[in-house]
Amino acid sequence: MGYSLEGATGAWEVVVGLEVHAQVISESKLFSGASATYGGAPNAHVSFVDAGFPGMLPVINRECVAQAVRTGLGLKAKINHWSRFDRKNYFYADLPNGYQISQFAHPVVGTGVVEIELADGTLKEIGITRLHLEQDAGKSMHDQHPSKSVIDLNRAGVALMEIVSEPDIRSPEEAGAYVRKLRQILRYLGTCDGNMEEGSMRADVNVSVRKAGEEFRTRCEIKNVNSVRFVMHAVEAEARRQIEVWESGRTVVQETRLYDPARGETRSMRSKEDAHDYRYFPEPDLLPLVLDEAWVKALAEKLPELPDEKRKRFCVQYGISFYDAGVLVVDQVTADFYETVAKGRDAKLAANWVMGDFFAALNRMGTTIDTSPVTAANLGALLDLIADATINGKIAKEVFEAMVETGQAPDVIVEEKGLRQVTDTGAIEAAVAAVIAANADKVAEYKGGKEKLFGFFVGQVMKAMARKGNPAIVNEEVKRQLQ
Ligand code: ADP
Ligand code: MG
Repeated sequence: MGYSLEGATGAWEVVVGLEVHAQVISESKLFSGASATYGGAPNAHVSFVDAGFPGMLPVINRECVAQAVRTGLGLKAKINHWSRFDRKNYFYADLPNGYQISQFAHPVVGTGVVEIELADGTLKEIGITRLHLEQDAGKSMHDQHPSKSVIDLNRAGVALMEIVSEPDIRSPEEAGAYVRKLRQILRYLGTCDGNMEEGSMRADVNVSVRKAGEEFRTRCEIKNVNSVRFVMHAVEAEARRQIEVWESGRTVVQETRLYDPARGETRSMRSKEDAHDYRYFPEPDLLPLVLDEAWVKALAEKLPELPDEKRKRFCVQYGISFYDAGVLVVDQVTADFYETVAKGRDAKLAANWVMGDFFAALNRMGTTIDTSPVTAANLGALLDLIADATINGKIAKEVFEAMVETGQAPDVIVEEKGLRQVTDTGAIEAAVAAVIAANADKVAEYKGGKEKLFGFFVGQVMKAMARKGNPAIVNEEVKRQLQ
């Protein structure tokens, strides 16, 4: 049984489809040569095209198209070799042209699929309806002057990909997993940085509710939700609101709403009655976009390995669990880090170290792999010291902590601190003999059948040897002397 919400009339199913706007990573804007860099002084990155000066003509940016095609390929989607731009007309102060150039009837990318994973390990496919290219608008600022609004056109004309999902999502958790997975794929592809706080990725969340087995009911669209958590909260809040509306005998009306994170509720922004009539028509200043088969093929061949494929490869190549592989491919940097540590070594042990002590250390320090004092090469070297019996597993933890603190290589730390494992059988024999001599009572109990005490003797010997004894040899020697 899937997710449902309980109302007075029983269980309700939640239906969600997402429209994600993802800012394309490119040097310049979709139709002008102005910089597409985030930030900068207001109106520093504005060409005459972006400012809507009369007679200025848009020129399509090939790299933005390539980014959209790469994204389509990454979403296992159909690439449309013929697409077209349309003019979407509306007035807004931060839209100097009075229209947005978008793709309406003929998007560059058609249907695809994204596989999501839920907390319980369930995998589910979410259909992609389409991906199209369009321009971003500028930004109106109402808090800079007591009586005037000011406008920053730096973002006007920056390329966006709108990625539309099928209404396949059935819970807040699935909505969150979808946005996270989409962001992960875009980041792997290098087509969008996915920074939702900076607005380079934002979601319009379409929500409806229904009784099991029914047709879809009317949906509402919650605009511009800018974090994964808010997407999840917005789905739940809106679904609860709609359940209440239906159960009180009223009807949900299709409208655009806003999510208010402070109140944890959605509120109406505009209803369908005053919805825009955009008067779309084919953009007369641009030719249709025709993609060369060979060009698309070349992009496909250069596509990086994506998270799902990498995850499967990690399972096969390194023999680690599907779960662990999922953690390690979270982003490219982490995956590369792991591979550097694992290559040519005990790959399962490498996974345990990376996901255990290493991640814990990053967490504790509030840092990331890029600025970590422990490099992949040094963590690998630490595993080598365990493998060649220079140090034992216990001491390795101590060496690792010193690596975190000093950023030094493990062999340097082992030498400086004298942590080399003792494999000298003479020294171990003496230490065991001393422990046995000092614990005659325990020895008697052991010989009387209390075999659990074996661990006690080993522990005492290791303690006496400052934990540096070779565990295998110590075990053997304790066994031998007790007999
Ligand atoms: P429009 O053309 O009006 O924007 P679409 O059919 O393109 O509408 O759908 C927009 C988004 O709304 C898509 O992500 C889609 O999955 C979602 N959607 C459509 N119908 C429903 C519904 N009944 N409940 C929830 N989401 C829906
Ligand atoms: Mg829409």
